[in-house]
Amino acid sequence: MNSWISPLSVDKFYSGVLYIKAPSMFLRDWVVNNYADVILRFCKKESREIRSLEVFVCSMRSSVAEKSDSKIVAAEEKRKKQESSILGVPLDPKFTFKNFVVGKPNEFAHAAAMRVAESDKVAFNPLFLYSAVGLGKTHLMQAIAWHIKERTPRRNVAYMSAEKFMYHFIKSVRDKDMMAFKEQFRSVDVLMIDDVQFICGKDSTQEEFFHTFNALVDNNRQVIVSADKSPSDLNGMGERLKSRLGWGLVADIHQTNYELRLGILQSKLEDCPIKIPEKVLEFIARKVTSNVRELEGALNRVIASADFSGNEITIECAKEFLSDLLRACDKKITIEEIQKKVASHYSIKLSDMSSSCRARKVALPRQIAMYLAKKLTATSLPEIGRNFGGRDHTTVLHAFKKIEERTGTDPDILRDIKLLSSLIA
Ligand code: ADP
Ligand code: MG
Repeated sequence: MNSWISPLSVDKFYSGVLYIKAPSMFLRDWVVNNYADVILRFCKKESREIRSLEVFVCSMRSSVAEKSDSKIVAAEEKRKKQESSILGVPLDPKFTFKNFVVGKPNEFAHAAAMRVAESDKVAFNPLFLYSAVGLGKTHLMQAIAWHIKERTPRRNVAYMSAEKFMYHFIKSVRDKDMMAFKEQFRSVDVLMIDDVQFICGKDSTQEEFFHTFNALVDNNRQVIVSADKSPSDLNGMGERLKSRLGWGLVADIHQTNYELRLGILQSKLEDCPIKIPEKVLEFIARKVTSNVRELEGALNRVIASADFSGNEITIECAKEFLSDLLRACDKKITIEEIQKKVASHYSIKLSDMSSSCRARKVALPRQIAMYLAKKLTATSLPEIGRNFGGRDHTTVLHAFKKIEERTGTDPDILRDIKLLSSLIA
């Protein structure tokens, strides 16, 4: 509390009102909202004539402004603008809307991103984008940032990873400079936090993020967040924050389909001097299904090899260049395989996976198998439930959450999960 109170000073006492000076608008608002009652009570104890308080802003900055020296004010504004634009990290010039190929799996997320980027008013807050890795979250977030910066340069856009947010927070705690932190973060018009799952389980960072988030939303500023899961699936995230994150618009990017993959390959080749036959592109789009990052990696490898050899690329050579990648993609993991591996690891019968027996000896391995089925395959929760003796999807979800939690607290479980994953995947 002292850091809030000590910058204040008494200006005058007049007609029952004690006038108090605060060095900035931010501090004044904070004191008025949080400490006004306490200060008044304290002052009344000192002098019964004090009936009310008036906190007003009076700083070097504003007294300069009062003299309306417009040059100095403009310089000050510029400095503030530059200061706050330092907050975000530099954007990748490639991550624009122009370079983002739209298809069925991402059209909703793209439309939502476009809507936020195009509008000056806050339509939904926050915009929450989620997907598995490599499907375009960061690309879409930065596309929004580029678009807003270009259309309305005066709007202050800050894009950063959740990790960077935590770094700023910890640094300001260490330097005892929370005020600057709060002031900086509350002065942005659009705050974008990428990979917010990073702060799961990091309670004080979450707490601070929650306050920042609320302050911005209350002031009608846009917040955009991305994560690898939907808000309700973010384990280790406080309930309040989880529910708040789901208040706006939640949009997910689905796994790619063949058309989108081919479209992306074609668009990446547009500015490339090396030509790759359409047949080879189709082959890559059919085979490399994991995510867009790997798809790009595969294409780059084929381009590099074509450049190196100088010959026309055939499907046969592409197969050769990409053999390791293709092997990984070909290996399709089935639930049955997971059940077999888990059952044998814990020396239980395969039929125990679908039985109704609830003895711990079989219940735990069964839950581990459900966990791995969710983690390593793209199967839906109800479908997984059906494969485990017709269990309900909530049972699968419960198992998943429980095991995920235990991997954080129980080293034996963590070791087993790692071992089993490596045997299966
Ligand atoms: P995420 O943040 O979801 O892990 P990224 O946004 O980093 O994924 O995307 C991984 C790579 O795939 C990036 O190079 C990105 O440009 C590319 N990419 C993803 N989706 C698309 C798309 N629809 N069109 C063009 N490139 C894409
Ligand atoms: Mg990303």
